[in-house]
Amino acid sequence: ASFSTLGISKNYIKSLQEIGIKKPTEIQEQTIPVLLNAKTDFIGLAQTGTGKTAAFGLPLLHHVDPKKDVIQGLILSPTRELVQQIKKQLFKFTKYNTDKIFLEAVYGGEKIDRQIGNLKRTTHIVVATPGRLIDLIERGEINLKNVKTIVLDEADEMLNMGFKQDINRILRYISSEKNTWLFSATMPDEIKKIIKTYMNINAPRVE
Ligand code: AMP
Repeated sequence: ASFSTLGISKNYIKSLQEIGIKKPTEIQEQTIPVLLNAKTDFIGLAQTGTGKTAAFGLPLLHHVDPKKDVIQGLILSPTRELVQQIKKQLFKFTKYNTDKIFLEAVYGGEKIDRQIGNLKRTTHIVVATPGRLIDLIERGEINLKNVKTIVLDEADEMLNMGFKQDINRILRYISSEKNTWLFSATMPDEIKKIIKTYMNINAPRVE
């Protein structure tokens, strides 16, 4: 398969080619058509280095309406480094978009005031560590009412790092009309519990 047959639009294919991404990886082949074509929850058993960022990132970018000045997508990831990497990668994908999609990264260890200031600008997708996102929610500095898609990236790592309560709070806080795309290298009971509580247990799975 090619990115084009998977349903990825020309502008993204152009930027992918520029950064050396020419042929979809296995997880991209299995994930992209499902996430592009249906509004669905999704469970992906995936390690890092498999191309999973593009597997969820490209469909998420396709679902965002750049003309609406609201946060529509939320990606949770365990560390500052991963959050920055995801934002950087998705930003590169949008190079040839005619309408700009604005991404913001929020994470602990950086002054929250600066992130609050940045969130006052147009933002379509937020990439966040769970703890800092909770802080922003509690301060009333982030509006997640219009989030349609939430991605839990490296869900098992987030639990290992003690973010269980934060993740539960975030999932409860965001509208029930959202779709949740969960990616994890392992599926311990704690992850199964999150799936059972917040997701459609019949959601498509890729492993
Ligand atoms: P990830 O697993 O998402 O962290 O991606 C790991 C690395 O693989 C990143 O540097 C990506 O830019 C790269 N990558 C992602 N998809 C592809 C692809 N289809 N072909 C070649 N490289 C890729």
